[in-house]
Amino acid sequence: MVRFWKGSGRQSVIRYAKPTTVDEALALLGEDRWRILAGGTDFYPAQGAKPFRDNVLDINGLAELRGIAEAGEHWRIGARTTWTDIVRHPLPAAFDALKAAAREVGSVQIQNVASVAGNLCNASPAADGVPALLALDADVELRSVDATRHLPLDAFILGNRCTALQPGEMVTAIRVPKRSAAGASAFVKLGARRYLVISIAMAAARLVVENGAVAEAAIAVGSCSAVARRLAGVEAALRGRPIDEALADAVLSAPFDELSPIADVRGSAEYREQAAREIVVRAVRGAVGLDQGKVAA
Ligand SMILES: Cc1cc2nc3c(=O)[nH]c(=O)nc-3n(C[C@H](O)[C@H](O)[C@H](O)COP(=O)(O)OP(=O)(O)OC[C@H]3O[C@@H](n4cnc5c(N)ncnc54)[C@H](O)[C@@H]3O)c2cc1C
Repeated sequence: MVRFWKGSGRQSVIRYAKPTTVDEALALLGEDRWRILAGGTDFYPAQGAKPFRDNVLDINGLAELRGIAEAGEHWRIGARTTWTDIVRHPLPAAFDALKAAAREVGSVQIQNVASVAGNLCNASPAADGVPALLALDADVELRSVDATRHLPLDAFILGNRCTALQPGEMVTAIRVPKRSAAGASAFVKLGARRYLVISIAMAAARLVVENGAVAEAAIAVGSCSAVARRLAGVEAALRGRPIDEALADAVLSAPFDELSPIADVRGSAEYREQAAREIVVRAVRGAVGLDQGKVAA
């Protein structure tokens, strides 16, 4: 069932729909232009007090998009899955960074309604969910009435507030390959205070340890470039290293070439660059059990 409401703006009539199946939602997306409403925690602040000009497609009736499941070679996170769902669902240790990031998104009230997919689609450089999902090699499932496609997360988020979402498409799931759900992970967020804060920088580290040494490393940093980035130089520097105190030196002397931090009210570019190195060290140490934690600026 699709519920419509027609509101009269000054220049045009807008539509509101709350479909109850994905097929209905895709049919609507195929026939008109819509703005998708999930938890609304980015949607409404962006709207502010402006009158609505676009049709609103409310996806909160799509129960089939909520939840986490194993599907073949992937873990599948439905597009309407909330941060609280992530925290509560039993998942392998490789997802610990994502769970830690989930606990850092705003407050518990925000986490109860806000979706993982909304965090990706909003494409803020400070989106806390992105580094952990990059470290898990996640991809994004995009569906339209005609087709389904999958894009690696780094090909989905193209820039600040810019994604590869095409007219007529919606994100239906985020997928994590089971082969990447290996090892253990940790997330460190640097903010100006302990709670309810936009990240100055954040880091996720996922490491697979075999025979006392790093067999695989996946490291990502957010808020230090237009889009959160994997750090290939750091990953290469960690591979093969024994699990000991010298891991920190390997991180600190590795190239962080992918980052291009900006200066803003939350910190200078130089501060972000140094802070990124420190929080990557802490995330790496947390992932291999040397220590854990979050730092305050
Ligand atoms: C007080 C407060 C604190 C916050 N703190 C943090 C924080 O600490 N860290 C952080 O990362 N974020 C934070 N946020 C931002 C926000 O809560 C998250 O980004 C959240 O995950 C967005 O999810 P949502 O379901 O509310 O998305 P919505 O607001 O509903 O949508 C966000 C955008 O994504 C689009 N969209 C949503 N779902 C889909 C879909 N399935 N397909 C296509 N497009 C879609 C919408 O059209 C919209 O453009 C905060 C927000 C508030 C209000």
